[in-house]
Amino acid sequence: MGKGTVAAYVREHYPDVWLSVSATTRRPRPGEVDGRHYHFVDEAEFDRLEREGQLLESAHVHGRSRYGTPRLPVQEALAAGRPALLEIDLQGARQVRGVMPEALFVFLAPPSWDELVSRLVGRGTETPEEREVRLRTAREELAAQEEFDVTIVNDDVARAAEHLVSLMVDPTPAKDS
Ligand code: 5GP
Repeated sequence: MGKGTVAAYVREHYPDVWLSVSATTRRPRPGEVDGRHYHFVDEAEFDRLEREGQLLESAHVHGRSRYGTPRLPVQEALAAGRPALLEIDLQGARQVRGVMPEALFVFLAPPSWDELVSRLVGRGTETPEEREVRLRTAREELAAQEEFDVTIVNDDVARAAEHLVSLMVDPTPAKDS
C-alpha cells in the first residue's frame, strides 16, 4: 500500500505516464522483475553508473542499499513530451530539485503513523531491524514534507494515483496553490 503500490497502479492504469526504472543494489523481492521494477545491479555496476555520470540522482536509502535514477531515459521521455514519474526518496528529490527546479515534487504521505507501521509489518519482507531503519527514514521524511509542492495522502491507492496523474497532466494549479 506504500509508494511502490501507487507507482504500480500508475504503471497498470495510466500507460501514457512514463515511469522511471531505478537502479538498485537491493536484492529483488519475490515477484520483482529486473528491468521492470528495478535494474538490479551489484555494487561495482552501481559505482560505474555513478562514475560515468549516468545517474540523475542517487542515494543510500535506509543506510543500506543504493538507489539511483538513470539519466538518459528521463531525458528521452521528457524530450518525447511524456509525463515522467520518478518514485524516489527525500535525498534524491533534493538532488533533482537542484538540477530540474521546474519539476513538480509530490510528497506521498501515509494516512497515519500507525497505518505506516502496520503496512510495513504486514508486507513481511523485512527483518525487525530493517523495519526499524525504514521507520526511522519515514520519520525523517515526514519531517521534510514542507519542502514538497504538494502532499497526497495515500489512504486509497486508486485515488492517490489518480490525483498524482492529474497533477502531472496539468501541474499549474497545484504549483500555484
Ligand atoms: P524499496 O526498497 O522499498 O523498493 O524502496 C525503498 C526506498 O527507495 C523508497 O523510499 C523509494 O522511494 C526509494 N527509491 C527507489 N528508487 C530510487 C531512486 O532511484 N532514487 C532514490 N533516491 N530513491 C529511490
